[in-house]
Amino acid sequence: MTTTMHEKFEMLLEKEGDHECEGLGKNKVCVRVVAMAELPTLFGQFHIVAFENNRDGKEHVAITKGDVIGASDVPVRLHSECLTGDVMGSLRCDCRDQLEAALKKIGQLEKGMVLYLRQEGRGIGLINKIRAYSLQDQGLDTVEANLALGFRDDERDYAVAAHMLMSLKIKSVQLMTNNPKKIDQLMSYGIKVIGRVPHIMEPNDHNRFYLETKAIKSGHMIDFFGKEHLAEQSDRPIVEGMSVAQIEEINE
Ligand SMILES: [Zn+2]
Ligand SMILES: [Zn+2]
Repeated sequence: MTTTMHEKFEMLLEKEGDHECEGLGKNKVCVRVVAMAELPTLFGQFHIVAFENNRDGKEHVAITKGDVIGASDVPVRLHSECLTGDVMGSLRCDCRDQLEAALKKIGQLEKGMVLYLRQEGRGIGLINKIRAYSLQDQGLDTVEANLALGFRDDERDYAVAAHMLMSLKIKSVQLMTNNPKKIDQLMSYGIKVIGRVPHIMEPNDHNRFYLETKAIKSGHMIDFFGKEHLAEQSDRPIVEGMSVAQIEEINE
């Protein structure tokens, strides 16, 4: 399995490493596979594939399970980088829960991948995200803070993600998302999405945050201090125990 994946990757690098293409989306994003290595994790045995692109210095990666190169019907989760959540375990957002849930789930499957997109604060960067947090601390409402964070612009993700999938010659995917609109956008870039897997998070010590607060009741993330937080990933979480109506509200 491992050898096959590495051999396939070497062939991919040879053919695709310097490919000519028009790029995707309004920014003509073109990404290239440049390196791959084993990545054993707490959540299973993965490979990590590194990409470079023609737009910025950001180094996007795919964390892949199993033999995915050229594969069909691959479960895929898109995750946007969040240093405070993913690394520090910040409770201002649910990014780490979402990432862990995706890695755990994919780690148990025969194949699948997380595309880890380096667009902190949805592209506005860490400093601006911290600025927006600060504005919230000072009492700005979530709409104002949303605007400060640039949360209205949700398109840039998909061109990079789509090209990453194309670079790995993925024939079709099952998108792990609670947001059907994400599928439409990925498909508009030519990715064959043959299904949607709801991204349901198992209750654990970490997402206790959601279970024990009004998050489940209201669909909003409200912490123990009664402060509302922003959804930083582009789909809202579904936690086991939510009612059908609550899930429908998320998908509306
Ligand atoms: Zn390209
Ligand atoms: Zn976050």
